[in-house]
Amino acid sequence: MDWDKSAALLLEKVPPFIQKSVKEKVETLARKFGKNVVTEEEVLAAREDFMGRPPAKEAQAKANPSRDNEKLSILRKYPKYFDKDGNPALYQVKTCRGAEVNCPFLITDSKILGDKLQKRLEALHFTERLINKVEGQILPHHTMKLAVSGCPNSCSMPQIKDFGVHAVEPVYVDAESGCIECMKCVETCREDAITVKDSQVTIDREKCVHCGLCARVCPTGSIKAQEKKYRVMIGGKVGRHPKFAEDILPQADESTTLKALEVCTDIILSSKTEHRFRTLIEHHGIEEIKRRI
Ligand code: SF4
Ligand code: SF4
Ligand code: SF4
Repeated sequence: MDWDKSAALLLEKVPPFIQKSVKEKVETLARKFGKNVVTEEEVLAAREDFMGRPPAKEAQAKANPSRDNEKLSILRKYPKYFDKDGNPALYQVKTCRGAEVNCPFLITDSKILGDKLQKRLEALHFTERLINKVEGQILPHHTMKLAVSGCPNSCSMPQIKDFGVHAVEPVYVDAESGCIECMKCVETCREDAITVKDSQVTIDREKCVHCGLCARVCPTGSIKAQEKKYRVMIGGKVGRHPKFAEDILPQADESTTLKALEVCTDIILSSKTEHRFRTLIEHHGIEEIKRRI
């Protein structure tokens, strides 16, 4: 049976000694779902099953339309909690408009990761499982808020979301490239993080926010950009006691970012209480959450 790219990547992360049996289990599940190509949905469902939790498909099957309608009656006043077909989507993924407007600060199009986060929530059947979990009416604060920005300027406000991400482009000094002291990097850096003296370039790591702009203006390649990454933060909120999100991954690749989302949704869905995500984070401890990613 064929595996799509994201499913194959997930399989690669499984320890080698159980990879064969996991592969068989996932393919059996895919056949049961009537699929001939394995996607991440089957991999995630197999993992839920392995961990003793009801598979997402079963969670979906447990849906009770009249009970769900009643639970969703308050949210029906707000179209943003429903997709174009009128199905509930108990999360919002906000992205910045960087790519759309050719923003000069853009590191990477936030919509690409935004779509993947949304697809992962769908694959995990987050909405159906949240409806099953919440007793009584579902209110706006039960829904999950996510944001992705294409650079550290953070126009989509990831710092005040349950799950926030912005792109980063870390830089490094290449001493071999021969700085000509044009000072373009110093003029460009808004953080005042660069010093150039006698052709020696120094970057203050405490001040640098990894916007990558200095590497783009350097004519000699004395400052170079590394691979683009994501800074991931969780637990931001507004309201009566606003709090900024806490950093969990300063420079993560896409697959680690998606794994972080899974850990966070697991914390929300497995909690016996209906506390805000920030309270759940404080209960679990940020270090424990980092350890699980
Ligand atoms: S977050 Fe960055 S890339 Fe996105 S619109 Fe704002 S400045 Fe531009
Ligand atoms: S990456 Fe941005 S913040 Fe860091 S040194 Fe370069 S211009 Fe300054
Ligand atoms: S932009 Fe490049 S060449 Fe110019 S001062 Fe900075 S590091 Fe040196």
